[in-house]
Amino acid sequence: MSKVAVIGSGPAGLMAAHVLATRGFAVTLFEKKQTLGAKLLIAGSSGLNVTHKVTEDASLEEFVAFYRGPRGHFQKILKDFSPQDWLKFIKSLGIETFLGTSRRYFVDGMKAAPLLRSWLNHLKELGVEILTRHECVDFEALQENPSRVRLSFQNGISQEFSAALFALGGGSYENHEIPLRWPGLFTRKGVAFIPFEASNVGFEVEWTQAFKTEAEGKPLKNVTLTSSKGKVTGDLMVTQYGLEGTPIYQVGEVGEVFLDLKPDLTFTSALARLVKSRENLSPMRRIKKFMKLSPAAYALLFHHAPKEIQNDLEALVKCVKKFPLHLEAKRPLAEAISSAGGVSFDELDETLMLRKYPGIYAAGEMLNWDAPTGGFLIQACVSQGHWVGTAMSERARPVLGH
Ligand SMILES: Cc1cc2nc3c(=O)[nH]c(=O)nc-3n(C[C@H](O)[C@H](O)[C@H](O)COP(=O)(O)OP(=O)(O)OC[C@H]3O[C@@H](n4cnc5c(N)ncnc54)[C@H](O)[C@@H]3O)c2cc1C
Repeated sequence: MSKVAVIGSGPAGLMAAHVLATRGFAVTLFEKKQTLGAKLLIAGSSGLNVTHKVTEDASLEEFVAFYRGPRGHFQKILKDFSPQDWLKFIKSLGIETFLGTSRRYFVDGMKAAPLLRSWLNHLKELGVEILTRHECVDFEALQENPSRVRLSFQNGISQEFSAALFALGGGSYENHEIPLRWPGLFTRKGVAFIPFEASNVGFEVEWTQAFKTEAEGKPLKNVTLTSSKGKVTGDLMVTQYGLEGTPIYQVGEVGEVFLDLKPDLTFTSALARLVKSRENLSPMRRIKKFMKLSPAAYALLFHHAPKEIQNDLEALVKCVKKFPLHLEAKRPLAEAISSAGGVSFDELDETLMLRKYPGIYAAGEMLNWDAPTGGFLIQACVSQGHWVGTAMSERARPVLGH
């Protein structure tokens, strides 16, 4: 039986292992950590969002538009293994999913552990050999026989396979006291690597102490963030250092951005609502009583709007509709949900095989693409895993018996 290797136990590696094992290959899955699927488990800690329903009848093109990377590649992999295919696969593992109000699909119970457990059991039933504490530290495509590749591990073991997939993950949320070693390995092997950069990450804002005391840990509910990158509505979380949340992940940038704290009212309708009452109230109290801002949004206005406009109702409403905010800096890679950068697509052929190392493939977040949160990240990882698993099986098949 033809032996193939998958290195990395994230969604990309697990999906490729499934395809290869289903097609009759002897698969060994290597993972450097003691724990399998560690980042998937982390992702589940805040509610595991597996894919997205862009609109009721969204086309493939609309889905692809969410990705930064080679468009044609995303068209192919998402056609080959679509969000519906992924949801069906999850169901086949005995895990139910549901569509949330934000059009994100979540697993029932929100946690990743049941999905991961069931996926690993399924792979074991298919005969996949799983080896933890195996960090791959070198690879080569054998000159004497182009259909073989050799992998070396930190524990001194060296093994040959018909083909191998690297699915080593991105640079986010790692312990940077122990730097990731594989980018250095790939660079030494002449494979172009674009340095990782934090993506889907919070930003720093210089909050006053008084604002933090009142608003830290509270959401700015349903606000619209506008920057030169675009406009996104959603909830933002006030943190001790700044802001987190989908709008900031998608259009946050260092410099001035604007918040609409009441996007469902126009300036005119908001003002009309406020002047209607004849009660003798100060402009701020009027806003508090009739505008129904979330407590954090009201605190933002109270503590961060210029003091000189606090008695000017019209100026305050303008501020509610276009609150200027200075984003000081991105939070570090170690806190980011994902990373941009990685192995350059120029190094890969259409099947995601390394041009310089025939028989060796790469997939998942380790490649230079990016997407917003909302399930798009895991979806691309599993679609790439499926795509590569299929390509590997087609290439390695002729060497059965080696
Ligand atoms: C807090 C947080 C929340 C998230 N929430 C979501 C979400 O809800 N929805 C979503 O779509 N995405 C989410 N993500 C992103 C998602 O988890 C990742 O995009 C996804 O896990 C990447 O999958 P992957 O298979 O490419 O790599 P990974 O899941 O990172 O797996 C790579 C594996 O390779 C192993 N490895 C690395 N180097 C070696 C080596 N040399 N030898 C052997 N093994 C090695 C690593 O230890 C790791 O286990 C979240 C991420 C974070 C940090």
